[in-house]
Amino acid sequence: MAPTTLANAFSADSDAPAIIIPSNPALTVSYQRLNADVTSFQQQLAKLGIRAESAVSIALPNTYEFIVSFIAASRQRAIAAPLNPAYKQSEFEFYIDDLSSAVALVPKGAFAQDAAAVRAARKYNAAIAECYFNGKEVVLDVKETGKLSGKQNAPVEQAQPDDVALVLHTSGTTGRPKAVPLTHRNLLRTMQNIQATYQLTASDRTMLVMPLFHVHGLLAGFLAPLLSASSVVVPAKFSASEFWRDFTTHKANWFTAVPTIHQILLRSPLPSPVPNIRFIRSCSSPLSPKTFHDLEATFKAPVLEAYAMTEAAHQMTSNPLPPGKRQPGSVGIGQGVEVKILDDAGDEVAQGKEAEICIRGENVTKGYLNNPAANASSFTKGGFFRTGDQGKKDADGYVIITGRIKELINKGGEKISPIELDNVVAQHPAVAEAVSFALEDEMYGQDVGLAVVLKAGQTLSAGELKTWMAERVAKFKLPKQIFFTDVMPKTATGKIQRRLVAEAMLKKGE
Ligand code: ATP
Ligand code: MG
Repeated sequence: MAPTTLANAFSADSDAPAIIIPSNPALTVSYQRLNADVTSFQQQLAKLGIRAESAVSIALPNTYEFIVSFIAASRQRAIAAPLNPAYKQSEFEFYIDDLSSAVALVPKGAFAQDAAAVRAARKYNAAIAECYFNGKEVVLDVKETGKLSGKQNAPVEQAQPDDVALVLHTSGTTGRPKAVPLTHRNLLRTMQNIQATYQLTASDRTMLVMPLFHVHGLLAGFLAPLLSASSVVVPAKFSASEFWRDFTTHKANWFTAVPTIHQILLRSPLPSPVPNIRFIRSCSSPLSPKTFHDLEATFKAPVLEAYAMTEAAHQMTSNPLPPGKRQPGSVGIGQGVEVKILDDAGDEVAQGKEAEICIRGENVTKGYLNNPAANASSFTKGGFFRTGDQGKKDADGYVIITGRIKELINKGGEKISPIELDNVVAQHPAVAEAVSFALEDEMYGQDVGLAVVLKAGQTLSAGELKTWMAERVAKFKLPKQIFFTDVMPKTATGKIQRRLVAEAMLKKGE
């Protein structure tokens, strides 16, 4: 029978490895053991007073205790709410307050150190518990019971398909992060879609490099592989110097990451020999055709770019495995998800025309939490979700993203795609990375700004770059101002926030 919740999504009695933690010595956890640890942690959560719809904020790095607490919270009909453990106090406060979290799970020692997450949880009277693996079991060490005081000993519950299992916030690329509730049904649909897209099986082994506190790592790097009875190698964080050692030692055969990580791997010492890689997945930010080709040539594996968002419980489209066609610069085709390019009225535009990318499927959230205004404008008359991304389909139906509707540079009515400019500039031999953005402009309203990181040892002037660009793009797209910078500001997941790049560059220029 097909699983309907995270409670029956994994083979409970198999002694095959589910999780491998590449510590020294490595910790290998079978499916059977994982299920037993989750069950006992679920009992501990119930004892603390966690019941249906309680929000459990998980401020833990990529660890075995994260994995166990996440699955246990959602099986207990509670809402798992992973948070970036590196947040500052004000960020923790925003998220803990937004969900009225019942408890914050923090690493061992955080309480004694009065860590940022602990102070934020206390401010909103959430219970505080340290969570760690002691070599035998995953411990829930309750330090304060907060608002759960007197409510201990909730029953152990059985999750239902339409219970909210997970709440994550959008990255906040275009504004304030929005809370996205995802049900067991939403998650299972994405897990099945990813399993089918990449034909994941028990003989696959994933190297997890993305954080578990966003949909990319959680769904593509962890939950979909577990549904497929694969094994997942889970280092605490991505490290360019340890990546290939762990990949080879633990016999991984694929990984998924953002383009920034792919670029770091291309610039780092290569493994020798290059291991057998079944495929490399790229998602969450645009992969330039140049990086696509460099990756395929260097790692001798098909590179499959996918397109995802929090509201879709991650994946919407992907390029297919061979013998399917891979199209550099395209995010591929709908994978168990309907994808249409719709105009403002919600009608489909002609093939090749640009408009908003809209999606429909069982993976898509029913709507944001406490945000009626966003919910009213986010769905079309036909029930399609408006992604906020602008794009088109090529003759084969492959989706090409041309920009974010809110990020298109509007130069006196002329819309300029920042992604297109980024890709052009990235081809310059001296350029390591380029990000374009809107600059306020008296005459046009907006004009083009461009931030550039040069490759080590290279020199290039703004004038030279402009002359080079003038041979490749129309004159109106040429940047008004070019900023050279040593590092490109990015989010924890390697996302470019053009708004923040613009702010940082203007500040530097002062
Ligand atoms: P917010 O909605 O708060 O502005 P966000 O949209 O960045 O933040 P996420 O849900 O993390 O939050 O990211 C989804 C977005 O990431 C997509 O809407 C799209 O713009 C971008 N994206 C994902 N995959 C790709 C890709 N392969 N190429 C280009 N953009 C991508
Ligand atoms: Mg978004």
